[in-house]
Amino acid sequence: MPSYKAPLRDTQFILNEVINIDRYASLPGFSDATPDLVSAILEEGAKFVEEVTQPLNLSGDEQGCVRHPDGSVTTPTGFKAAYDQLVEAGWGGLAADPAYGGQGLPHVIANAFEEFMISANMAFTMYIGLTQGAIAAITAVGSEDQKSTFIPRMVAGSWSGTMNLTEPHCGTDLGLLRTRAEPHADGSFRITGTKIFISSGEHDLTENIIHLVLAKMPDSPDTVRGISLFIVPKFLVNADGSLGERNTVSCGSLEEKMGIHGNSTCVMNYDGATGYLIGERDKGMRAMFVMMNAARLGVGLQGLAQSEVSYQNAVAYAQDRLQGRSLTGPKNKAGQADPIIVHPDVRRMLMNAKAFNEGARALALWGALQVDLTHMAATEEERQEADDLIGLLTPVIKGYFTDKGYENATNAQQCLGGHGYIREWGLEQFVRDARIAMIYEGTNGIQALDLVGRKLASNGGRALRTYVGKIKSYIDTHRDTQGMGEFVQPLEAALDDLQKSTSWLMANAMTNADNAGAASMPYLYLMGLVSLGFMWAQIAEAALHGLAGGATDTNFYSNKLRTGRYFFSHMLPETAIHRIRIQAGSKTLMEMDAQAF
Ligand SMILES: Cc1cc2nc3c(=O)[nH]c(=O)nc-3n(C[C@H](O)[C@H](O)[C@H](O)COP(=O)(O)OP(=O)(O)OC[C@H]3O[C@@H](n4cnc5c(N)ncnc54)[C@H](O)[C@@H]3O)c2cc1C
Repeated sequence: MPSYKAPLRDTQFILNEVINIDRYASLPGFSDATPDLVSAILEEGAKFVEEVTQPLNLSGDEQGCVRHPDGSVTTPTGFKAAYDQLVEAGWGGLAADPAYGGQGLPHVIANAFEEFMISANMAFTMYIGLTQGAIAAITAVGSEDQKSTFIPRMVAGSWSGTMNLTEPHCGTDLGLLRTRAEPHADGSFRITGTKIFISSGEHDLTENIIHLVLAKMPDSPDTVRGISLFIVPKFLVNADGSLGERNTVSCGSLEEKMGIHGNSTCVMNYDGATGYLIGERDKGMRAMFVMMNAARLGVGLQGLAQSEVSYQNAVAYAQDRLQGRSLTGPKNKAGQADPIIVHPDVRRMLMNAKAFNEGARALALWGALQVDLTHMAATEEERQEADDLIGLLTPVIKGYFTDKGYENATNAQQCLGGHGYIREWGLEQFVRDARIAMIYEGTNGIQALDLVGRKLASNGGRALRTYVGKIKSYIDTHRDTQGMGEFVQPLEAALDDLQKSTSWLMANAMTNADNAGAASMPYLYLMGLVSLGFMWAQIAEAALHGLAGGATDTNFYSNKLRTGRYFFSHMLPETAIHRIRIQAGSKTLMEMDAQAF
């Protein structure tokens, strides 16, 4: 049976010693998040996921969701009781606005807990994750009436949320969407169309489901500029907030899919359903982007979380499984063979995952901190900087983390040999569950295009300049710090690869846009690696500091330095390969006639 232990010590180390959240104690939300309170929350959160949701991961995958003839959907056995426990304990509202019943804690704390939740049970966590995205969209563009009607119940968890973009003939290219919104005399709209692949579209966990739906009004342009966003509740809401009539939106069928079987992925039929415009008409994509940006960071976290849980199970197996002898002589002399963790190739797979997980966790938490600073930092300049940084890094966190998450899950499966392919060990489920994160919320190819085509150029390249400036200044400050040279020097070389690649793009993408398209994925990986390098340098700095301060758990800090050395010597040098790929341009990619494939 697979198991999971929330990485509490590592998370606390990053919060308290690497990104030092106590530096922000004067900001709203942070003032309440004392180290003791944060520890207590994370310890309770770890207990909750280990005892309540993780035990439902395998059974939820085997059982899946069931659609009944009346269109209702039941989630796997145990999900409803676990959801009720989650709601009762208030886990869904950790970072939500206290004005709507939330606890008002920083996002960075909620993000740490969310990683635990996803590792324990990704399919279950999606029911809550999408609600958070819907809350973000309603908060950003909803009217006061819409906010007060919907958000408090969504924060409380009695209502959940969905996002409805995809249709049978359109996923990436939303300009093609056909769902129609006809104005009605009372100011509402009648929504008609079919949406597919809708996560958590119908289920039995909450008493109402609030669908956020993209549709076009009859007199709007039939392009991406004519899309508006609508709130379509499963049950209409009476003026006093009680549930009214059942709306004409229903689940037509459940998709049969590769993984996340515990999450209902629905075909949703809108048959003249009552909907309410949210935000400005024809500006629906702008509103939906609020939701998607929040969701993309959550999906990035899915990559890290699947990498972590599959790594943990691979380590347990590698320490136990006896096969062959170490190349340098027996290590388990009393036994007939050595545990496979002695073999360098098994270690390569484990170290790749370990170094990714710890660096990515730091980047995810640092990114969540930027989300907090976007709203709460003291000055407009700091808020703008945080917004620039998280805007730049959102496609990197989504695309790089989820590609690595899948790769690490597959390698963890590889560590188990044939047993990794057998259901009862759970590794094959982690691989199947991790796979979707590379596809939804905009495929990773689209994330790379967003990074290269939009984020690099916006505001004259301000975000990248800020980010590179920060890394440079870190390198300059620590170049001569004792013990830091071995970490800072490779980071400088990797940053040089990033800068040379950026210059190449600027010189060659304008003349031939395919050069930007061809470079986009290697550029996203390059930025991911440099970002992890930036985090690993800070982790190493904190570890050196811990050791110098006479910490008692010296092993923890020494192992950080060992893992950091592996990252800088074995993983970061890949930036040079990505630079070479970027500079190779698009010619050899594009010259083949399409018929020749
Ligand atoms: C399990 C699951 C859950 C989902 N949940 C939701 C949900 O809750 N709500 C929702 O609205 N949708 C959801 N989706 C849909 C998902 O977001 C889309 O599948 C995804 O955005 C890709 O769209 P598509 O499948 O139509 O692929 P396409 O858009 O047809 O893309 C096919 C391939 O072409 C590439 N491509 C397309 N256009 C370009 C381009 N311009 N440049 C470069 N490459 C391009 C893509 O990267 C991809 O590799 C879900 C999907 C699944 C499978």
